[in-house]
Amino acid sequence: MSFDLIIRNATLPDGRRGIDIAVRNGRIEAVEAGVDAEAGEVVDAEGHLVSPPFVDIHFHMDATLSLGIPRLNRSGTLLEGIQLWGELKPLLTKDAVVERALRYCDLAVSQGLLAVRSHVDVCDDRLVGVEALLEVKDTVRDYLDLQLVAFPQDGLFRAPNAEANLLRALDMGVDVVGGIPHFERTMEAGARSVTRLCEIAAERGLMVDLHCDETDDPMSRHIETLAAETVRLGLQGRVAGSHLTSMHSMDNYYVSKLLPLIAEAQIHCVPNPVANIVLQGRHDTYPKRRGMMRVPELWALGVNVAFGQDSCMDPWYSMGNADMLDVAHMAVHTGHLTSRDAVTRCFDAVTRAGASAFGLESYGLEKGCNADLVILDAADAIEAVRLRSPRLRVYRRGRLISRAEPRRAELSLPGRPAMVAPSAYAPPVG
Ligand SMILES: [Zn+2]
Repeated sequence: MSFDLIIRNATLPDGRRGIDIAVRNGRIEAVEAGVDAEAGEVVDAEGHLVSPPFVDIHFHMDATLSLGIPRLNRSGTLLEGIQLWGELKPLLTKDAVVERALRYCDLAVSQGLLAVRSHVDVCDDRLVGVEALLEVKDTVRDYLDLQLVAFPQDGLFRAPNAEANLLRALDMGVDVVGGIPHFERTMEAGARSVTRLCEIAAERGLMVDLHCDETDDPMSRHIETLAAETVRLGLQGRVAGSHLTSMHSMDNYYVSKLLPLIAEAQIHCVPNPVANIVLQGRHDTYPKRRGMMRVPELWALGVNVAFGQDSCMDPWYSMGNADMLDVAHMAVHTGHLTSRDAVTRCFDAVTRAGASAFGLESYGLEKGCNADLVILDAADAIEAVRLRSPRLRVYRRGRLISRAEPRRAELSLPGRPAMVAPSAYAPPVG
């Protein structure tokens, strides 16, 4: 038997070691020890981690790489970010958005990030971002899955024409219904927006992904409405609640009622730890709260938790590198997720869990899945998170699309080794 590609001696995210992955016609044909066959290309993974690609389930590609245009966010708050984006919007051109997005996708591919769900603002009547990102989606489809969410950034009811523009964006081919209930004028209007958006999704057979309760206000409880409307309209499994940062500050008794409602509605919960650790708590003196939803408690109820990056060098977040391992690493810290099992789950939250919320088909390391594979300079998934390891090789449908060197440093220290390889420092624990 002959394959196009065999990757030998891989460690898998589930901890299996010494595994060979055989690929033919862009699909995985075998995942087992000792595949006895020839292949056009044989790659020795040398015991490194081989993973399905990273998935960013929450991003804003219309804003990315715009840092400093037309100015910087001085307060660091979400609200100044929204204001600043409002100043930038009239200046946007389709060509500039396309150019920045394609440049971002280049970076993403080099980080093994091959699926991105991006919100796209629909509050600009010109729908420049929608036109641009639909074009980008088509341009990158051979190497990156881009899914778009129609996002009324300034509020479905608060912004003029937002609902009409959102419907127009969906007609143009945007995939998912978005919203921002905590930014509507009142709690009541926010709740009505959740209902309206879920009804639009139900009518059109679409998924929902709302920016929901991205605030430190413990009384912001739109997630409750979202869970109830999801069940009422039979949208279970098709709805994501992004951010949910108010959950951090909510009363514990109330949360004990809320989390089972989220589980019942099969809502995908999407924390954005890098963005929200800096956006939230800005109105606090001390102590300053973290902007992190209650991840271990959600996991305990079987809720799918997928981490998003949210922003990369834009009005809301000045850092970022298209690196989902950065996101997992930040989640470990902000969520106290330091046990071996929790770190492994954080890796899962930027790969498999994201793919599940995205609805990606043929994703994973099973026979029949797409041969989308990343070889990392890491001994296992925990080490990948600890080191935010270089992606040595990135494959899409069995084709090599990015290569990088392992991280090394040459030392000049008498009596000490001449070379340091961070990946060689993996601890001797199982
Ligand atoms: Zn967002």
